Amino acid sequence: MHQAALPDKATAADEAAVEDDLLHFPASHPLSSRRVLVLNRNWQAVNIVDVRRAFALLFREDARVIDTDEGANSICDIEEWIERSLRKPPQRERDALHTVRFPIRIPSVMILDEYDRLPMKEPRLSREGIFARDTFTCQYCGREHSERDLNIDHVIPRERGGRNTWENLVTSCIACNERKANRLPHEAGMRLLRRPRRPARLPFSACVATDLRRSPDWELFLGTLR
Ligand SMILES: [Zn+2]
Repeated sequence: MHQAALPDKATAADEAAVEDDLLHFPASHPLSSRRVLVLNRNWQAVNIVDVRRAFALLFREDARVIDTDEGANSICDIEEWIERSLRKPPQRERDALHTVRFPIRIPSVMILDEYDRLPMKEPRLSREGIFARDTFTCQYCGREHSERDLNIDHVIPRERGGRNTWENLVTSCIACNERKANRLPHEAGMRLLRRPRRPARLPFSACVATDLRRSPDWELFLGTLR
C-alpha cells in the first residue's frame, strides 16, 4: 500500500502529550461542549461522549475512529488517526485539539471493539423530545409542521398547576396554542388527538434523534430521524 510521505511522524511522546493536554482540559474550554457519537461493534449508536472520554477510549484501544471524511467504512486506531491528522490537519478550530506540536482532529464517530449490547433508554423530557413523540404533529388540529411553527402546550395550564411532564406537555401549532390560551382543552372547545404519555424506553439511536448536540456527521449511523 502506498504511504504518503509524512512531514513528521507521531511518536509515543506525541501521544503522551495529547493525553496530558486532555488531562488539563478545563471545563471552560470551547471543546468541552463538543460530543462524539459511540457505536457498538454492531454499528448501533450506544452513547454520546465528550472529547476527553472519546480520547480515553481511543488511547485504551477500546474504540477506533470512523473517519467520516473518508466514508463510513474507514476505521482507524489512535496511532493511524494521529498520522491522518498530520497529513490532513483539522480545517475548523472546533475540530481541533491542540497538542504541543500539532493539532489533532476530533473524531465525530467512534466504534467500540468489544461491546455489543444495545442499551434501552428513556428519551429526555425536552421540547425536541415532545415534538419527536408527537411526530411533529399538532395534537389539536392534527397537522404536521416544521419545528419553527410549533409550540409546546401545557394541557393543564401552568397557572392552574399544570406541570412539565410527558403527560401534560403536547406539541401544538402556534395557531392552536393561541386559540387554547390559558384554558383546558374542553373549555376552548378543543380535543387532543391522543392522551399524552411518557414514551417507552427506546434504543439509544431513537433517543439521540431528539438530542440537540447531534452532529450532521452522525446521520448515517442513526438511520432516518423523522
Ligand atoms: Zn394546530
